[in-house]
Amino acid sequence: MLEKVKGFNGDRVIEEFEALTKDAERVQRETLQRILEENGKAEYLQNLGLGGKTDPDCFKACVPLVTHKDLEPYIQRIADEEDASPILTGRPIKSISLSSGTTQGKPKFVPFNDELEQSTMQIYRTSFAFRNRAHPIGNGKSLQFIYSSKQFKTKGGLLATTATTNVYLSQQFKNTMKDIQSQCCSPDEVIFSLDYNQSLYCHLLCGLIYSDEVQFVFSTFAHSIVHAFRTFEQVWEELCCDIREGVLSSRITIPSIRSAFSKFLRPNPQLANTIYNKCSNLSNWYGLIPELWPNAKYVYGIMTGSMEPYLNKLRHYAASLPLMSADYGSSEGWIGANIDPGEPPESATFTVLPNIGYFEFIPLKERAHEQEVDNYGSMVVRKEPEPIGLTKVNVGEEYEIIMTTFAGLYRYRLGDVVKTAGFHNSAPKLQFVHRRNLILTVNIDKNTEKDLQLAVEEASKLLAAEKVEVLDFTSHVDMSTNPGHYVIFWELSGDVKDEVLNNCCNCLDRAFVDAGYVGSRKIRAIGPLELRIVNRGTFHKILEHHLALGAAMNQFKTPRYVGLSNHSVLQILNDSVHKSICSNAYD
Ligand code: AMP
Repeated sequence: MLEKVKGFNGDRVIEEFEALTKDAERVQRETLQRILEENGKAEYLQNLGLGGKTDPDCFKACVPLVTHKDLEPYIQRIADEEDASPILTGRPIKSISLSSGTTQGKPKFVPFNDELEQSTMQIYRTSFAFRNRAHPIGNGKSLQFIYSSKQFKTKGGLLATTATTNVYLSQQFKNTMKDIQSQCCSPDEVIFSLDYNQSLYCHLLCGLIYSDEVQFVFSTFAHSIVHAFRTFEQVWEELCCDIREGVLSSRITIPSIRSAFSKFLRPNPQLANTIYNKCSNLSNWYGLIPELWPNAKYVYGIMTGSMEPYLNKLRHYAASLPLMSADYGSSEGWIGANIDPGEPPESATFTVLPNIGYFEFIPLKERAHEQEVDNYGSMVVRKEPEPIGLTKVNVGEEYEIIMTTFAGLYRYRLGDVVKTAGFHNSAPKLQFVHRRNLILTVNIDKNTEKDLQLAVEEASKLLAAEKVEVLDFTSHVDMSTNPGHYVIFWELSGDVKDEVLNNCCNCLDRAFVDAGYVGSRKIRAIGPLELRIVNRGTFHKILEHHLALGAAMNQFKTPRYVGLSNHSVLQILNDSVHKSICSNAYD
């Protein structure tokens, strides 16, 4: 029997989920029909000649596959025009979400509406029902590193902000969270402050004040949790001082936050001493989370994809506390819920909810659509394979995901590559593989974000003996040399002998094992890989740069590839290089 948390009935949520996934094909057909009926008046659909038809075959025949670039002019008109005419959706778009844009270098505008809000709640409720079955939480609080981002009005008067802020602002979110999540330790003034450094300090302080009540630790992406505890290592004595004296540090200058704290911050020397002693006794901060938050049941957040490199550090802070990877979605729309929270984050899967959108999948098995070299050595372009339906995907194969949403995106290429890990009833369980466009390539070589991650993982093992970690990393292809070569940027936690760095650089070069790379390196059609070591704090500068562009701390993902078009970030990196090593692995 599932435990009931306040007004939440986990049994019912799981029953509904079971019913939806048992007949995923029918639910998909009905979902497509609803999307097309509700948005039938939209100019975009009217122009495609569907003539009221809503079946998958007509839909595929009339509606083209698109990227964000194709829809940009429509979304821009929604943002700019004041008369709210039906452009992409039947009913007016409520607000605009800014996607993190950390992969492209600038935030993208995407439509946000009530249906998106509802599917967000459905995903949250579903994964919570499964999580709570495995690790029931009591009626305590939660330490959540969540941050709102800038809000502004578009020319046409719509609110524009990040998707997470759009969700936090909604009444549905507040109602759902009351039911399913423990209350956040921090007051709204902390979450909605626009200075994330001040918010972070205050989240930590609130977490400590309510340390015995905290049931779990959360942030949207694992990066923010690691960042929060790295900051804790720097400011813990100041936090203890605030608790001892009952006075908020002078680093907090925002009046609304100071006034919110004045309602509950009181001198508590006993708590301050306990925290001080615990911190002093920790060895290199191992097990910090369970030590300071003894009633926490788990750490929760997205830990897959570009978040995997932070898992080691997260495990260090969490010790034996379970790490539970959160759901899969994007500013454009949700895709799947993690219903096996007990699985380690590295093998987390996301079961697609078949009623939150219509999903198609382009098979990538043969990469047949890409340019390939034929038997005679000349380049040929093969036709892209037809996308297949949600229930037709094969276990073990990779696909590019295409989504059609209630918020006005039709056959939209999200840019993510996923792999089918299995099925729950008739709904696929997907694993996130990588972003499709993040590819290191000089000529016939192709290395993805995942290949890069594995290479860095391998090479960073050589640093273990030196007790130094790779704090963050990214890559670039330098074509200014002849031939071009891969560049990997590393920020390290300490100094390392040149000899060790040389070994790391050679190891990185050898770790890219695709035939295109190895072959080209051997014949010198790709130059030696270059490892550039950047100063401490460089990746923090990159984060600050993205936040200044309007990205939210909640959605930030370190770009794992920085192209020439992202020149500001490239400049930050290159200005911070203090050592550069070239590989001799193929000499
Ligand atoms: P944003 O547009 O900022 O909302 O970012 C959405 C992107 O983040 C997705 O398209 C994915 O590339 C990535 N993402 C979201 N959820 C996950 C997840 N659970 N695992 C891995 N990557 C994810």
